[in-house]
Amino acid sequence: MKQRINVVLREEPQEQRVIVAGWVRTRRDTGTFSFLEVNDGSCLANLQVIADSSLANYEEEIKRLNTGCSVIVTGVAKKSPAKGQNVEVHADTIEVVGWADPENYPLQKKRHSFEFLREISHLRPRTNALGAVARVRSRLAWAINSFFQERGFFQVHTPIITTSDCEGAGEMFQVTTAREAGAAKGTHEEFFGRKAGLTVSGQLQAEVYALALGNVYTFGPTFRAENSNTSRHLAEFWMIEPEMAFCDLACNMELATDMLKYVLSDVVENCSEDMALFDSFIEKGLLAKLRSVIEKDFAHLTYTEAVDKLIASKKKFEFPVKWGIDLQSEHERYLCEELFGCPLIVTDYPATIKPFYMRVNDDGKTVAAMDILVPGIGEIVGGSQREERYEVLERRMLEAGIELEEYRWYLDLRKYGSVPHAGYGLGFERLVQFVTGMANIREVIPFPRTPGFAPC
Ligand code: ATP
Ligand code: MG
Ligand code: MG
Ligand code: MG
Repeated sequence: MKQRINVVLREEPQEQRVIVAGWVRTRRDTGTFSFLEVNDGSCLANLQVIADSSLANYEEEIKRLNTGCSVIVTGVAKKSPAKGQNVEVHADTIEVVGWADPENYPLQKKRHSFEFLREISHLRPRTNALGAVARVRSRLAWAINSFFQERGFFQVHTPIITTSDCEGAGEMFQVTTAREAGAAKGTHEEFFGRKAGLTVSGQLQAEVYALALGNVYTFGPTFRAENSNTSRHLAEFWMIEPEMAFCDLACNMELATDMLKYVLSDVVENCSEDMALFDSFIEKGLLAKLRSVIEKDFAHLTYTEAVDKLIASKKKFEFPVKWGIDLQSEHERYLCEELFGCPLIVTDYPATIKPFYMRVNDDGKTVAAMDILVPGIGEIVGGSQREERYEVLERRMLEAGIELEEYRWYLDLRKYGSVPHAGYGLGFERLVQFVTGMANIREVIPFPRTPGFAPC
């Protein structure tokens, strides 16, 4: 039975037999034996394997092993005399499973730029940094599910192909079907005669289930046809969207704060080796920053207060600030990086810049919206209390030019047993960016898709 290298390295070596399988990172020869560093992706650390020249394939194969070759090693795990490692394996056999021609294999032992690695997204998870991102991303997904499941939320699988353009921002990819079998290339029609697109948010459908099951969440792929070449936007990303019945904006803010603190604590504790890599090589002081986010309260101010502070700062922004504008990344980052130095919740945005479903406040001008902004990125969470009053919602929809017939079902939720309810969307990749310190969102999703780029 094969063992994973993270388990072999963790256990106290008691001269037990092990079988490990992985990819060679380096080989170093001495007169009578060779040292191989083998990595199997289970952890950042490599396992040192000692191959004695008495092995049957030593001259023909082992001395030809180079970075990228795959091997299966059987041997004995022993306490290592070398510094910085507890265990080493003395090999009995090393089977070479696959060669990697050093002339062509692009991942030789040196530092590669993230731009270069993007061009080879089929090989980049074999590097230290991208391997660590993949493990941390997996753990974060697990922590998010545990957070909600422990609190009795039900996971709802909202549709990927849908007719409702929730954000109404014209960012929906259309789904088309070939007109007929054998149709000429490029002749497509609407989805079997009906307009359909890829989901921009599962929120409206999550509301349906919140108003039946109480507390629910979705965690799925989301698509936006926005032509933004920024370090925080993708055309395909993943979103976590909880939705709660009998909940107002304050309860929504509390849930989002608890969730962020929960998942950050989990990953700092359970991915310590990978997190130390990010702390040393990607963002100095990352761990201290995350610990302070876990421990301290988030700052809170209204949109109006935020705009006042931005104007008072007298800073020259590319996009000038006045009441009524949507906050841009430069404003968001100034607020949480320079003014507060911590995550910030901004609430009560102008109704004119927010979608129809957000609850109108008593002032008639603002809505019960909240964004959570974090240093280095800006917006990471966008949420709101939803408009539960039938007449107000209908008016807002008409003002937004929405075809009421298409949203009859959504209005119905306000007609039969309507309740105050609220929820938010957390962009999963923005969370992974914040946790790993990666500057560009393209590094935290396996196959990033952006306007000028499609890996496969
Ligand atoms: P932004 O202002 O950054 O464009 P948004 O306000 O359009 O974001 P929302 O509709 O509020 O985004 O979506 C909820 C969350 O989904 C955002 O807070 C963000 O974390 C994430 N998100 C939105 N658009 C993208 C995108 N194109 N790529 C990656 N994540 C995104
Ligand atoms: Mg946007
Ligand atoms: Mg926004
Ligand atoms: Mg938003």
